[in-house]
Amino acid sequence: MRTRVRRITVGRLDAPMKEPFGIAGGAQTRAANVLVRAELDDGTVGWGEGAPMPAFNGVTQAQTLSAARAAAAALRGAAAGAWGSWKTPRNACARAAVETALLDAWTRRLGIPLRVFFGGAEERITTDITIPIVAPEKAADAARGIRAFGVRTLKIKVGKRVQDDAARVLSAMAAAPSSKLMLDANAGYSPADALRLLARLRSEGVEPELFEQPTPAMAGLREVRRKGRVPVAADESADSPSAVMRLAAATACDVVNIKVMKLGLLGALETARVARACGFSLMIGGLVETRLGMTAAAHLACGLGRFAYADLDTPLFLAEDPMRGVPIGRGGVYDLSKVRSGIGVSPR
Ligand SMILES: [Mg+2]
Repeated sequence: MRTRVRRITVGRLDAPMKEPFGIAGGAQTRAANVLVRAELDDGTVGWGEGAPMPAFNGVTQAQTLSAARAAAAALRGAAAGAWGSWKTPRNACARAAVETALLDAWTRRLGIPLRVFFGGAEERITTDITIPIVAPEKAADAARGIRAFGVRTLKIKVGKRVQDDAARVLSAMAAAPSSKLMLDANAGYSPADALRLLARLRSEGVEPELFEQPTPAMAGLREVRRKGRVPVAADESADSPSAVMRLAAATACDVVNIKVMKLGLLGALETARVARACGFSLMIGGLVETRLGMTAAAHLACGLGRFAYADLDTPLFLAEDPMRGVPIGRGGVYDLSKVRSGIGVSPR
C-alpha cells in the first residue's frame, strides 16, 4: 500500500540571537521562523524549517505561517514518495519548510540519509563564519573567536558606508591574518562604492577571494567583476533557475549562492543543476536558520557534491539551540556520516 501524508502541522520557531545580526538591509535580533512537522500514515515523522528574513527579501514570519498552513491542508493524503507532484506554496520559505519536512519523513521512511536522496556524493562540508555589520573592534573580537574555533574563512558583511566597511574588514583581517576573505554587500552598494572598497582593501594588501552581491542589479555585478577583477557571487539576484540563466547570459558572476529559503528544497536542487550547467561554481548558503534548516541544506550540498563555498553558520549565533542532532564541529564541519536516515536533526 502506498504511504500517504497523514497530517502536516505548522507552528512558530522563535530563537533569540546572541547579538543582532546586521546586514546592509537591516538587523535581526531573533530568528522568527516556522517549524513544520509532517507525519506519514505509518507514523513516520519529519521536520522542516522556514526562515523568513525581512532584511534580506521582505518575507515575514506571518506570511510564511499562513502559506505553510494552506499547504498543509492541501497536502493531506498526498502520496509521500511522489515528490514531483506535491502541491507546495508559492512563498519560497514556506515551500522550503514543507518540502524539508516531507523529504525528511520520506527519507526516514526509506531508511536513507537525506544526502543520499540528493546523490550521496559527499559526507562532510565545512562552513565559513560570518562577521555581520559591527564596529571594527567587535569585528576583531569576532575574527579571533572564529580563528580559535578553527575556521579559516571569514565572510564579512559590507554594503553600508565604504569607509566604515573597510575599517571593519581591515580590523578583522588584522586580528586573524591569512584568513580567506569573502565580502557580502547584500546589494547595498553602487558599482563605484564596491570598486572603492576593493581599492581601499588592496592598498592595505587585503585581497578578497569572492565578492558576493555587491550591487542590486545584474549590470552592476558584471561591472564590479570586470573592473574590479574579482570573482563575484550572485545571491539576491539568483532567486530562480531562469534568473540564473539570465546571470549566465549577462556574464554577471562566477558563483551562485544556492539557498533553500529562496527556492524551496526541490527548487534549490533544480537551481543548483541549472547553475552548474551554466558553468557557475556553487555556494550553499542560508538565512538566519537553526540547525534544522542548515543541516538540510548541508545534505543537499553534500548529496550533489563539489560545492566550492559553504555559508551555513547561523546556528552558531543563536543564544539557545532549539535542535538536537548533527552538532557543528570544530573548524565549522557538518559531519553527516553518522546520520542513519533523514536530516538527523529534530526539535528538542
Ligand atoms: Mg548573501
